[in-house]
Amino acid sequence: MVARVVRGLAFPAGEIPPALRWLMAEFRLIVNESVRIALGQDIRSRFRLARIAYRTLSADHDVYKQYIPSAFEVALGMLKGYRKRVRRGRHTDVPYLRRLMLKAENQSYRLDRETGRLRIPIRAGQQAFLDLPLSDWHRSLLGDASWSLGSLTVTPDRVIVTVRKATPEPYLPMAAIALDTNEDSLDGVIAEGRTASLVTVFFPEVRVVQATHFRRRRRITRKKAHDSRVIRRLLGREGRRERNRVRQRLHLVSKGLIQTAKERHAAIVLENLSLHGAGGRSRRMNRRLSSWPRREIHRQIEYKAALAGVPVIKVNPAWTSKTCPACGARRRDRVGKDFVCLVCDWEMDRQHNAALNILKSALASHEALARAVPVPSAMTW
Ligand SMILES: [Zn+2]
Repeated sequence: MVARVVRGLAFPAGEIPPALRWLMAEFRLIVNESVRIALGQDIRSRFRLARIAYRTLSADHDVYKQYIPSAFEVALGMLKGYRKRVRRGRHTDVPYLRRLMLKAENQSYRLDRETGRLRIPIRAGQQAFLDLPLSDWHRSLLGDASWSLGSLTVTPDRVIVTVRKATPEPYLPMAAIALDTNEDSLDGVIAEGRTASLVTVFFPEVRVVQATHFRRRRRITRKKAHDSRVIRRLLGREGRRERNRVRQRLHLVSKGLIQTAKERHAAIVLENLSLHGAGGRSRRMNRRLSSWPRREIHRQIEYKAALAGVPVIKVNPAWTSKTCPACGARRRDRVGKDFVCLVCDWEMDRQHNAALNILKSALASHEALARAVPVPSAMTW
């Protein structure tokens, strides 16, 4: 299987033509009927759902036929989440698509990659058009033929076009950059041959940006306390601006990191933030500094690495900040700014200590990497 990177390009929807709005309402109906049928007959595959429901749904809904399998996919996706919640014993309502929506695969719609004109079939012989406002960044992606078009999603306020690209086979690493992801820095160890060095990339802007927005947000809630709708709208806008600003800064960091990794033929080692072991650390974090920037920088690093052929290894982050990389002893109490081992007197600042443990985990589980990079002997630093 060829690995691919998928990116979503989001556009404001603008004025939605009535025919398209009608189609979105039909699509929502088809999705909700599919959910009902799939749930009633315990169907989990698109193939079985199509066999049982396609004929009726296509007779009942006079829409372009290719939307029906797309609706099946949306319905099965909703049911997957639902079944998972049920399995975990959570109280949950049967899924129901409330918003107007349309999802189309790339063979269903046409996008003029130069002008942004989108042609969406409604039914045989009828179509609707939307003009997507293309930014320079969109143009540069759409102008690059190695990105092919993926699915299209239309909601009342946004249009999302996904683009995808096959990624090169990652190279065999000759070095490793292991990183501990913190609130406003990446703290790492670069291991290359027999040498290892510590690195830190600060992005203090994230903290500053978030603090400013926090203050501004508090002011908004205080001032407009009489109108909860206005507050929600203003806060929504603040949130988006904040994210965009942080995202811009993180892009510079991730770009530099990928360049460094590529030059040294290094693998990048990150904590797997989706594992439960990542908990416990989040408590350490200030409420204002949500973990969103950490997830965002990982997201950026991962897709840029995939496009550049840089291998990424993810390790379980449990205990990384509480283990001694020299003797393996763990501290069960709170670790302060510096990690000090009670058994062997090893001492290092908490973040780099964590990075060293992240590196060791990767070396323990990746033979090819371990061959290229011997475990740095902590005692000789
Ligand atoms: Zn120790």
